[in-house]
Amino acid sequence: MIQKPQIAWGILWAACSTLLGNAAQAIEVKVQPTKVRLGDTVSILVTPDSGETLTEAPTVKVADKTFPAFQVAPNRWRALVPTTPLEKHGRRSLTVTGNQQTRNMLLWVGSRRFPTQRIWLPPKKKITVKDPNYEFRQADKFKAVVTPQKYWNGTFVRPNAGRSSTGYGVRRYYNGVFAKDYYHRGLDYANSTGSPVKAAAAGKVSLIGRESEGFRVHGNVVGLDHGQGVGTIYLHLSRIDVQPGQTVASGQVIGAVGSTGASTGPHLHWGLYVNGQAVDPSPWLWRGFD
Ligand SMILES: [Zn+2]
Repeated sequence: MIQKPQIAWGILWAACSTLLGNAAQAIEVKVQPTKVRLGDTVSILVTPDSGETLTEAPTVKVADKTFPAFQVAPNRWRALVPTTPLEKHGRRSLTVTGNQQTRNMLLWVGSRRFPTQRIWLPPKKKITVKDPNYEFRQADKFKAVVTPQKYWNGTFVRPNAGRSSTGYGVRRYYNGVFAKDYYHRGLDYANSTGSPVKAAAAGKVSLIGRESEGFRVHGNVVGLDHGQGVGTIYLHLSRIDVQPGQTVASGQVIGAVGSTGASTGPHLHWGLYVNGQAVDPSPWLWRGFD
């Protein structure tokens, strides 16, 4: 069942369209936010046409990549799609299949300017670590966690009271060379060592790493799984107050600000991952994705 692509700029209600004239099979697709920009999390909400049911997970594809859809209420399914500063702005194909109907649409992702920083690094210090990739393998495992259960409710809370020092998406030149794969994958809060770090939302501890165990970049780190492909990570901690697998409440203290790992002064680096990609956490603080 093919139809001409529709522009999904703004809230998109896909009209029902079937070759068989069987309106019972129709689905509606709603895209939020109304204007997507690079770094945004895109919510793709799929519901059946009025009076109908949608009891099986629809398939949601953006640019031929499939994203998991979870039931958020009876007959309401949602996929969360990340966008990042490394992508090109512009249109992507959005294909949603449910109740044997396929809808072909276009998703528009607007451009956004990210500030740049110029960093001059001294010659590398010789650090001997038994397995330098251990921390990155652990971090990759954290980013790959997708739990069907949704642990969070409502908006996320600011994990530290400190001043915002570096924003999301900042690009860098290292020693004059543009780092094309680098963007600041979170928000930094400058604060004094020992200042409490709170869980941004309810979740489960899915990563604990310590500088003493080889986390020389992240430093002491906690990762939380909030369910449905959403996770948050807290870097450079001076202290860790939680255990692997522990359930935490929104706002619960999980550790303290520090300067462990690759850090030039006490601050919290807070990252938010959606299906493996670091998105801008800000919309999760002010509007949320419930
Ligand atoms: Zn940072």
